[in-house]
Amino acid sequence: SGGLMSGKRGLVMGVANNRSIAWGIAKAAHAQGAKLALTYQGEPLRKRVEPLAADLDAAIVGHCDVTDPATIDAVFAETERQLGGLDFLVHAIAFSDKNELDGRYVDTTAENFSKTMLISCYSFTAVAQRAEKLMSEGGSMLTLTYYGAEKWMPHYNVMGVAKAALEASVRYLAADLGPKNIRVNAISAGPIKTLAASGIGDFRYILKWNELNAPLRRTVTIDEVGDAGMYLLSDLGRAVTGEVHHVDAGYHIVGMKNPDAPDL
Ligand code: NAD
Repeated sequence: SGGLMSGKRGLVMGVANNRSIAWGIAKAAHAQGAKLALTYQGEPLRKRVEPLAADLDAAIVGHCDVTDPATIDAVFAETERQLGGLDFLVHAIAFSDKNELDGRYVDTTAENFSKTMLISCYSFTAVAQRAEKLMSEGGSMLTLTYYGAEKWMPHYNVMGVAKAALEASVRYLAADLGPKNIRVNAISAGPIKTLAASGIGDFRYILKWNELNAPLRRTVTIDEVGDAGMYLLSDLGRAVTGEVHHVDAGYHIVGMKNPDAPDL
């Protein structure tokens, strides 16, 4: 077909269910003609991801827990075997202990700080190392971040610190991989009700606040994040790297509460 992504092979990491942002991106890439491979984290999610992969005619390249490097190596070996190489990579993975996504950042433990940074920040670099080897003709890598990296947000806490480091790593990876024509970008998505988001305290309030105060007066969907992702993953974005692109109904430009919004 003549889609934006036709002839491109991509690995999408982070589909947990049909509400995942990674799923929105996978659907958009498939609609634009991409050939996809998906990973899953653990047996319980395998049963959810398998039928989704079948919907997109996508390969399943196995279990990946980014805290276990052997599983990262295994899914990249299987990706090479099944797709022969890679043109794009989507990383939509984050984790922090739920009891630290509430209350105060100052109470963060060293143990959860390290775990959050490993899973939510370092893992993008870990997969970029493997993906680089499969992108012999250049490529595009994309991760997901949130405005809590740039500004304080209630309850986001250690995840905000990890996302700030993730956004910095996008810039360092872009510089390292640019000479190989591999681009590295992030989408900063507005809040969406997903499995990961359900761990964040008072998430309904955050959604409502965005709906009332974003310039477009609404929140965003995984399909809208997916469509915006096509610009960064396809050749339309061929001159764009090291960028953090906001897909948030404009919320990031707002400096003050909308005076017409009702009190929450
Ligand atoms: P989700 O729960 O659907 O996806 C999170 C994924 O991370 C899951 O597939 C899970 O299996 C995976 N994961 C967690 N720990 C892992 C590990 N150790 N190894 C491998 N995979 C692991 O939720 P989502 O909201 O779609 O999250 C995807 C990304 O989008 C995350 O980086 C998240 O921070 C980011 N994001 C989400 C929002 C939002 O409001 N939902 C907003 C901006 C950015």
